[in-house]
Amino acid sequence: IFDKDCPDFNYKLILIGDSRAGKTSVTERYVNDAFDEKQKQTRTVQISRKMVKIDRTEKWAQLHIWDTLGQENFKSLAPLFYRKAVGAFLVFDLTSRKSFENIDDWYQQVSSNVDGARVIVMLLGNKADLPNREVSYNDAMEYARSRNFGYLEVSAKTGTNIRNSFNCLVKEIYRAQ
Ligand code: GDP
Ligand code: MG
Repeated sequence: IFDKDCPDFNYKLILIGDSRAGKTSVTERYVNDAFDEKQKQTRTVQISRKMVKIDRTEKWAQLHIWDTLGQENFKSLAPLFYRKAVGAFLVFDLTSRKSFENIDDWYQQVSSNVDGARVIVMLLGNKADLPNREVSYNDAMEYARSRNFGYLEVSAKTGTNIRNSFNCLVKEIYRAQ
């Protein structure tokens, strides 16, 4: 039996943000190291699992990564979706100002649904590979600071910062528990 066959912790992580921001793609890149230009809209709750070693420790965490369904179906499932989450990625699209402006509404959803227990939140600006950005690093960073979130620019397409963002979130969850 190896350590990694038996996790020390189980962490539920959720990804939220506007439809098309890249939540499913970020998850795909992280879990399967793959990318699909024509990523289908998520129609059911998808839970992906991945075992990770927590940075600078001998501990293993089993991640349960919950990806949202299309917004139209989301409301009724929200309580189940948020239940017991210990980490949340707020994902927006760097080429869509609107997706960034909606982020604080998504955060309100998190804070009103994850009762009591602290959830570690991290902001991700996705699609950093594209040239036509509408959100500057400084604007996103300023918002993240105001809420005390970490912020990273990522690309599910190239893989830039994807593993790093999960490692950071997991490390913070571990530290906070
Ligand atoms: P979701 O609705 O938030 O789950 O978004 P998806 O993961 O379905 O992605 C929406 C679209 O954006 C798909 O066509 C993806 O291929 C594309 N996409 C996602 N991430 C990236 C990225 O990092 N770079 C680029 N160029 N396209 C991306
Ligand atoms: Mg999706």
